Amino acid sequence: MKAEIIAVGTELLLGQIVNTNAQYLSQELAALGIDVYFQTVVGDNRKRFAQAVETAAARADLLIFTGGLGPTQDDLTKEALAEVLGRPLYVDPEAMANVERFFKDRGVPMTENNRRQALAIDGGTPLPNETGLAVGDAVAAGGKFYIVLPGPPKEMKPMFERQAKPWILKHALSEEMPIYSKMLKFAGIGESALETKLLDLIKEQSDPTVAPYAKEGEVTIRVSTKAASEREAMEKLGAMEREIASRLPEHLYANVDVPIEQKILELMAQRGLTLSAAESCTGGLLMEMITAIPGSSAVFMGGIVCYSNAMKEKLLNVPHELLEGDGAPGAVSAETARVLAEQVRLTADTDFGLSITGVAGPGASERKPAGLVYIAISRRGGDTAVYELNLKGNRDAVRMRSAKTILYRLWRALMES
Ligand code: ATP
Repeated sequence: MKAEIIAVGTELLLGQIVNTNAQYLSQELAALGIDVYFQTVVGDNRKRFAQAVETAAARADLLIFTGGLGPTQDDLTKEALAEVLGRPLYVDPEAMANVERFFKDRGVPMTENNRRQALAIDGGTPLPNETGLAVGDAVAAGGKFYIVLPGPPKEMKPMFERQAKPWILKHALSEEMPIYSKMLKFAGIGESALETKLLDLIKEQSDPTVAPYAKEGEVTIRVSTKAASEREAMEKLGAMEREIASRLPEHLYANVDVPIEQKILELMAQRGLTLSAAESCTGGLLMEMITAIPGSSAVFMGGIVCYSNAMKEKLLNVPHELLEGDGAPGAVSAETARVLAEQVRLTADTDFGLSITGVAGPGASERKPAGLVYIAISRRGGDTAVYELNLKGNRDAVRMRSAKTILYRLWRALMES
């Protein structure tokens, strides 16, 4: 099955917005085992839209449109597609009720052009919009499949996930063997280093296929296979997972799509261990990541954001001589990181205490370069481990990587004990 994504909107051609819808849809289609050979962007112009549909239909089986479903005249996707397919449009009663309810709830009169948002193509399946007004559509015509989605990502993603995907599986992929996949999650390694280790597997595109999967701040590999039964699929996926694990034993932390902080919390909860943290340059980012996980309160007792030297001294007893004065190591030092981790652990009376202190940038501090960060892990009855990091990237990247790196080190410490 070959698909083409057609993003509609002059804003995209003018460079005013980035086509993130195509990125999302390409990833989702790859996960379904559907090949995307072309992504197209076309402006709000009926003639060029028709040309784009004709070209795409000649080289793909499934055409997915995003954008151009709004109330105004330049929102032409449904009308123009209906014209190409030679089908009339009708007002979908449920979608119309949704639009009317929206205006009634707000006590605003509905202008007539809003009816356009409830239009559906004859013979198709309207796809309800749970987060907006414009109804989507799924149409099978002339041996091809057409999916129409709204432009705003917050409407497009849920509609794809909850409405379009099940429709595609049922109508477009029903003849094909189902696809099964596993997400393998890695920490403590960059995307390019990971790819290098798995290059032969990625390049071969054998069965199962191995594909890197972009996700904010995380390195993920999706392993997929088509199989007649779940059991057969799990055997094939399991063998590939073992092969990958044998090449990266110190980095593969999960075979389901969970962040490393969740894995750590699960491991610690199972063992009845507790955690606290002291953060300087990350300003609470690490604690935010940990407490975003439901159930974190069983493990995470709390922490301190000690941004200034005064707070480091006052709240966590870092000796003044360590922080300031001639020859003092300073706030950004292995010595300070060690005291912070040990003191927060003692203060919170936890099994593990973490600390992060560094120069997030831009520019140096204490005559130390941006990206120089010290992290420490103190454990009850054990030695404190301190690591020096020399991180690249802007302020956001340095902060995120500092937090991710200490999580990785904590996970390793837990796996090794
Ligand atoms: P609306 O009802 O808001 O008019 P629509 O379905 O008509 O929705 P457009 O008018 O084409 O969609 O785009 C609305 C907004 O959705 C854009 O301003 C942009 O913020 C976002 N958007 C549209 N297309 C894309 C895309 N391909 N990638 C990312 N964002 C997009």
